[in-house]
Amino acid sequence: MNCRNCKKSITEFFSLGQMPSVNTFLKQEEIATEKKYDLSVGFCPHCFLVQLINNIPPEDIFTHYVYFSSVSQYFLEHCKKTAKYLTEKLHLNKESLVLEIASNDGAQLQYFQELGIPVLGVDPAQNITRIAEAKGIKTITAFFNHHLAKQLREKNIRADLVFGSNVLAHVPEIVDFLHGVKQVLKPKGTAVFEFPYMKGLLENKFDTIYHEHVFYYSLIALVNLFKTAGLEIYDVEMTPMQGGSLMIYASCPGVFPIHNHVKDLVAEEIKSGFNLLGTYQKMGQNVLALKYSLVDVLKSIKREGKKIVAYSAPAKGNTLLNYFNINKNYLDFIVDKSKAKQGLYTPGTHLLVEPVEKIYETRPDYLLILCWNIVDEVVVMEELQEWRRGGGKFIIAVPSIKIL
Ligand SMILES: [Zn+2]
Repeated sequence: MNCRNCKKSITEFFSLGQMPSVNTFLKQEEIATEKKYDLSVGFCPHCFLVQLINNIPPEDIFTHYVYFSSVSQYFLEHCKKTAKYLTEKLHLNKESLVLEIASNDGAQLQYFQELGIPVLGVDPAQNITRIAEAKGIKTITAFFNHHLAKQLREKNIRADLVFGSNVLAHVPEIVDFLHGVKQVLKPKGTAVFEFPYMKGLLENKFDTIYHEHVFYYSLIALVNLFKTAGLEIYDVEMTPMQGGSLMIYASCPGVFPIHNHVKDLVAEEIKSGFNLLGTYQKMGQNVLALKYSLVDVLKSIKREGKKIVAYSAPAKGNTLLNYFNINKNYLDFIVDKSKAKQGLYTPGTHLLVEPVEKIYETRPDYLLILCWNIVDEVVVMEELQEWRRGGGKFIIAVPSIKIL
């Protein structure tokens, strides 16, 4: 397998084996024909890019996506702050254009629009872009790539800000995609991307590995990758999204001075061994140790005859359940607030997704929290307090096992 950036050969360091598409929730009649695909991760020793060995065609995943950005209040607050922050930092105004790639249901763009800044979204999932359009957010239903970017530019559409949250990791043809970004940027425009940071992966947050995430980015790899497409990263910031994300700022080379944030983080990554294969191999060993510990905990709870239910069904939760082989042997069912998931079965493990209220009817002894990135929010949720007072306990698995 060759690197998707530099085309040289990469080395596999971690395999989760055959896995289902973790965002594809199933109807009962779909269970028998569920597809699985190899899920293995490799490291490029030449440009440091961490990437999947194989990818499945995007059409197999994104066209029937059940993730709606606007479901999470926490996410919406983050979007609102981001719009205000970037408007000030990049001096956007009513003459500017914000182009968002993978704009989902318009969760982010609506806040730019509220600030009076013209916006345009691009997203491949029609069931989702329809919702954005209904909110008054102009959205093109398509995959963003170099070809689409050229079409936009021919129509004289160029952006002061090209924004993408949680998209950079998803695009197998990343070099073509970044050429497209360059194409639609105004000469002094900035591209801003936010994505989960590699550091999390090395701290046991391995469950962000799934087919949609083709890449796991360190800054050192990104600097090389953007250079391939004729772009330069001039600033970087940490954000709390997904348990630790980076927000990078890129432009055409030489337009902005390179901030010390970039130089400092590159130095820190080299010090932490992000440029070495051994660092990633160690991560694989740590995850296996976590798997055995969690299964031991669940086994001993079941031996006491107690009931365990999983709380929330994010994609990463499905990676964890499948890789750790945690299914009906341990869990009675799973609850999730998203109505789009309720009544369906989880990919691979085939647990029925119930509404949260089901917790009061069945009174499980433990809730296994799979959305570790919002665990602080979950443990204080008003709707779980009565169950808590009755003796209910939380199990947190990632990044390390805790029982609260
Ligand atoms: Zn490479």
